[in-house]
Amino acid sequence: MSAKKDYYEVLGVARGADAGELKRAYRKLAMELHPDKNPGNHQAEASFKEASEAYQVLSDPEKRQMYDRFGHEAPRMGQGFGDVGDIFSAFGDIFGDIFGQRAGGRRGPGRGADVETQLVLTLLEAQAGVKKDLKVARRVPCATCKGSGAAPGTQPETCQQCGGRGQVMHSQGFLMIQTTCPVCRGDGRIIRKACPTCEGQGFERHEEELQVTIPAGVEDGSTLRLAGRGEAGPRGGPPGNLFVVLRVQEDERFERDGVDLHTEIAVSFPQLALGAKVSVPTLTGESEIDVRAGSQPGDTVALRGLGMPSLEGRGTGDIVAHLKLVVPKTLSPEAEQHLRSYAEAGGDKIAPEKTGLFGRKKKR
Ligand SMILES: [Zn+2]
Ligand SMILES: [Zn+2]
Repeated sequence: MSAKKDYYEVLGVARGADAGELKRAYRKLAMELHPDKNPGNHQAEASFKEASEAYQVLSDPEKRQMYDRFGHEAPRMGQGFGDVGDIFSAFGDIFGDIFGQRAGGRRGPGRGADVETQLVLTLLEAQAGVKKDLKVARRVPCATCKGSGAAPGTQPETCQQCGGRGQVMHSQGFLMIQTTCPVCRGDGRIIRKACPTCEGQGFERHEEELQVTIPAGVEDGSTLRLAGRGEAGPRGGPPGNLFVVLRVQEDERFERDGVDLHTEIAVSFPQLALGAKVSVPTLTGESEIDVRAGSQPGDTVALRGLGMPSLEGRGTGDIVAHLKLVVPKTLSPEAEQHLRSYAEAGGDKIAPEKTGLFGRKKKR
């Protein structure tokens, strides 16, 4: 096999090109080289595949990084690199623009639209992972005509004008101009008798109940992608994807910081001074912590492993309890008497704090 050309050279961009430049460069090449525009031209087809492969790698930040470091020899590139079999679905967005009906070209049935929906979770569900039922209304292929749009017993016919290509060529002097076929309006097919159920659209709306498995550790705004669960594609084309945006409800007891959950625990001066066992809320109940004698307001005690799991499998965070000193607003006569004795016994003499301005220490 001959040496492969550098991907940046293939696309004609600088090594530092950003995503927008890459996309523009690839679009331009794809427009020129696309097999539909160069029927029978093997050189164009090879260049098209080369450009598609380069774009597939460079548009993926992870693959690009690998390529930048190791070039074509990059490990674990065997699969992703060089595999252009699925190039049309991989770049549906780009080809949708370029070769979609509006652009006048047509390359088989287009992909259906993506659908987005939301799912609300409690913090506990986000921590533990959960299976949820979800109702989604989407377009599915019409059951009567199986998506063809033609009445039962009939078939869509190939457009005679354009031979099913959806576009026709006109010569104007020595220029060949390609336009959308006026007979089928770019569809490539003619439906003589429309399906009564969908009026020739090939779709019907259908509410579907799906069960989604939500992995442990998701965050508010995390999005799940359910391949092929979006709208049906026109003319029997592949369906779009369903995106489920997860909304994790706030839990007033906790403030989430990545995998850790911070909480505040009210403690008294004797508890801080003498040490105590105090209970701390967890997502499933509560747990006890030891407050060491001599603890200061604002000190933290961690409950290891009771926070949120990492989505990347890097263990589980902690519940971090911040000790908050609460001073009583009123005292019983007895408590007041004891407190006065404590003050007289030296409780009022405080050694100057050496750790910071006015004794305030920065925790967290
Ligand atoms: Zn139908
Ligand atoms: Zn036609």
